[in-house]
Amino acid sequence: MRLSRYFLPILRETPKEAEIMSHRLMLRAGMIRQESAGIYAWLPLGLKVLNKVNAIVREEQNRSGAIELLMPTIQSADLWRESGRYDAYGKEMLRIQDRHEREMLFGPTNEEMITEIFRGYVRSYKDLPLNLYHIQWKFRDEVRPRFGVMRSREFLMKDAYSFDLDQAGAVHSYNKMFVAYLRTFARMGLKAIPMRADTGPIGGNLSHEFIILASTGESEVFSHADYLNYDIPAEDTNFDDIASLQSIVDKWTSLYAATSEMHDEAAFNAVPEDKKMSARGIEVGHIFYFGTKYSEPMGAKVMGPDGQEREVHMGSYGIGPSRLIAAIIEASHDENGIIWPEAVAPFEVAILNLKVGDSGTDAASEKLYRELSAAGRDVLYDDRDERPGGKFATADLIGVPWQVLIGPKGLAEGKVELKHRATGERQLLSVEDVVSRLTAHK
Ligand code: ATP
Ligand code: MG
Repeated sequence: MRLSRYFLPILRETPKEAEIMSHRLMLRAGMIRQESAGIYAWLPLGLKVLNKVNAIVREEQNRSGAIELLMPTIQSADLWRESGRYDAYGKEMLRIQDRHEREMLFGPTNEEMITEIFRGYVRSYKDLPLNLYHIQWKFRDEVRPRFGVMRSREFLMKDAYSFDLDQAGAVHSYNKMFVAYLRTFARMGLKAIPMRADTGPIGGNLSHEFIILASTGESEVFSHADYLNYDIPAEDTNFDDIASLQSIVDKWTSLYAATSEMHDEAAFNAVPEDKKMSARGIEVGHIFYFGTKYSEPMGAKVMGPDGQEREVHMGSYGIGPSRLIAAIIEASHDENGIIWPEAVAPFEVAILNLKVGDSGTDAASEKLYRELSAAGRDVLYDDRDERPGGKFATADLIGVPWQVLIGPKGLAEGKVELKHRATGERQLLSVEDVVSRLTAHK
């Protein structure tokens, strides 16, 4: 992408309404724009990151055996009356009437709808286990939308729903999601700790929240520090191996970790003093097992191997990709801007032509842009006629992991400068060496 032709509305001033760093940086970097309270447009740079986050979420869901579909955002009130949640949900639900005065709503979550889809087709235990997910916009009329996309009213959610014949099967399905979540967050450069959590209005008895530690987090959490250094399950984890998945989950739940709602002071006091972490955290994911809470009132039954019909055991599993982006920024920035982990960076490389119009820098920049793009790299070429200082500031603000600085002085000696955003390290290299360095692995 040539920056001169891109739409990157950078703000020079720090917006006054933004209280936390991720919100400020997302506005300044031209990633999002508020359209109404808690409702945001995703500008091109923000959308690029969102798509990369979604791609990782999708890959790990698919790897664990979950299957993607897409349910609508608008749902009928009648569906929610079946589970009894239409009245229970309260003011967070945005209720809508269509032209025929039918009661509709903008979905805050999809347990009812997925149960309705399931019961329409699945009759036998032979079709289980089944885990269906989608990545879709949700609306919750939060009392206090704030911190940008961290707590917005309209937000993106990956929500998966598992169906099993019995509790043992459902626990295996739960464990698959647990392990998929560990991998998902680690691939985004985050250390997420699974913490025992309250099940809230969704109900049930087995639940973990995946929490990123951050001083601006809204949850109060208590955890053993060793979780921060635990190994993440490998890419070739066998999700069908019931015992080995259980042992991963056992390991990741053996030490103390709980949110304030589930906090047990006595148990926490048993954690060695130097391992006690009492901190603030951001909830980026939440998994539940809730048995037959929806299948019972909604009549989602299957025939078991014994010829008896029974209600399916279900779980639901959420990740907030839009909130995740803010969480990544909270965890990874400095005074100059965002420092994207490479896996979710909007662009992998920025080429800064420091003297546009100079035949040497123009030719070297164009060559590098062509070759890196041809090698499949996502490149932003700053070809604007602007002073170098502005270009450095922009590249650092939007957090591009690798920056190539091309100026006449270096070129006179056949060199350009390769800068690593995260460490600030700089190296003088030939254009050819930059190409081979940045295309070495992909
Ligand atoms: P919170 O406790 O933060 O209000 P929740 O427990 O209501 O969240 P869940 O129903 O568990 O949220 O939703 C699953 C995921 O969706 C959360 O883990 C979070 O990542 C994301 N999420 C929920 N509410 C919001 C919101 N208002 N803005 C952005 N993301 C959200
Ligand atoms: Mg939650």
